[in-house]
Amino acid sequence: MKELDFDVIVVGGGPAGTSAAYMASKKGCTVALIEKEKKIAETVRTSGVTWISDIEKFGIPNECYNPIRKFSFCSPKNSVTISDEIAKAAVLDVRKTYRFLAKRAEDTGAELFLNTNVSDILKNSTGGCTGVIAKSNDKQIQFNGKVVIDASGFGSVVAKGLGHVKQWKKFGVGAEYEVKTEKLEHDNWWLMVGKEYSPAGYAWIFPTSENTARIGVGIGKPDSDIDPTIRLNELIDKKMGPIKDLGEIDKIEFHYGLIPNEGLSRKTVYDNLILVGDSAGQANPLVLEGIRYAIRFGEVAGRVAADAITDGNTSKASLMTYEKEWKKAIESNINSAVKVQSRWVGLSDEEWNKELSIINELTADEFLDFIRADFGVSKMLKLATHHPKMIVRQLFNMVKGT
Ligand SMILES: Cc1cc2nc3c(=O)[nH]c(=O)nc-3n(C[C@H](O)[C@H](O)[C@H](O)COP(=O)(O)OP(=O)(O)OC[C@H]3O[C@@H](n4cnc5c(N)ncnc54)[C@H](O)[C@@H]3O)c2cc1C
Repeated sequence: MKELDFDVIVVGGGPAGTSAAYMASKKGCTVALIEKEKKIAETVRTSGVTWISDIEKFGIPNECYNPIRKFSFCSPKNSVTISDEIAKAAVLDVRKTYRFLAKRAEDTGAELFLNTNVSDILKNSTGGCTGVIAKSNDKQIQFNGKVVIDASGFGSVVAKGLGHVKQWKKFGVGAEYEVKTEKLEHDNWWLMVGKEYSPAGYAWIFPTSENTARIGVGIGKPDSDIDPTIRLNELIDKKMGPIKDLGEIDKIEFHYGLIPNEGLSRKTVYDNLILVGDSAGQANPLVLEGIRYAIRFGEVAGRVAADAITDGNTSKASLMTYEKEWKKAIESNINSAVKVQSRWVGLSDEEWNKELSIINELTADEFLDFIRADFGVSKMLKLATHHPKMIVRQLFNMVKGT
């Protein structure tokens, strides 16, 4: 079997892995970035909603996204639209974005191995990860590394292979069509809530250009046993809610994916091993968005791995800087978002109609902070105590946990 030696081995060429590979090689490490598909983002498994401030921070070019300025919600008997002066949200061209991130990693020196499927994990006598075995075109390659970064997404192939984690039990399943539409408000997204759209989740219309959009349905498991693909086809066939305003719809491509929804329950460092992105469960549970965290903490993982290698100590204790840094950044926000999510999952259609009236009282910035789970303690306290509308104060008191 062919053997290759690298400082850092990154498993998975999604946003977490490409960002980890970029940062580790920028810090001077030799890096293998291993992806099982033939091309980066060959299969799209995400709707790609994110925030322009994050996109700009990451240096992702303008042509990679469609800006969104209006945020519409509908429940069976209510509908609200919050409009902003300028676009602060975006729907990514997922392929362009992920390929941009991968090229950036390659340009800094990371070696990209496509069509290379990690099947076995190597460990030393004390259980520390020492590398992986992958199959590429019927040939096996052994990759030896000082630090392995598990960025393999929902499957967490490295951590699972070492017995550190088990399959996620609580997760979201999403089915989505990229479609061409006859009519479209290209800067207005729709979230559709209530049992007829999704019994434990929501449906969406996310515009990707002047005349293309992603229409999808997400369902929480094990809360509901509805198949999101069946429900999605029903919604499109019956032209339910705002789908009817799109006119003729031509399906271009089907997307399907799974996302963990267990809050921040996992340990994310072990000897010589870091988990990042969906593998670590780093997603905002409110709307199950994880791309910006995958990129941000991918970069942190790459940096911490490189520093540990330079120091000659890649033990769990040394890599713990990574876990401390990402937890400090998002742990309390995610815990607050989990509370809002629990409230939302339990709402009846009638209660959703009322919830939208509360959401309608938020300014565009308050709404964005809310949906992004940017519940900084001082901001939350201010909303819970001083918001002019009592129902909004009550909502934020609930988020605070009082
Ligand atoms: C239906 C749906 C809609 C979503 N919508 C949004 C959204 O609008 N906004 C948002 O921010 N987030 C969204 N998310 C979540 C977002 O997609 C994830 O949080 C994000 O993709 C996590 O990135 P990642 O790099 O950790 O994992 P992934 O993007 O899953 O990347 C993992 C990579 O690892 C590769 N891989 C897996 N196993 C192996 C192996 N054995 N060997 C080699 N390579 C392997 C995979 O092929 C893949 O390329 C959505 C998720 C779903 C399921």
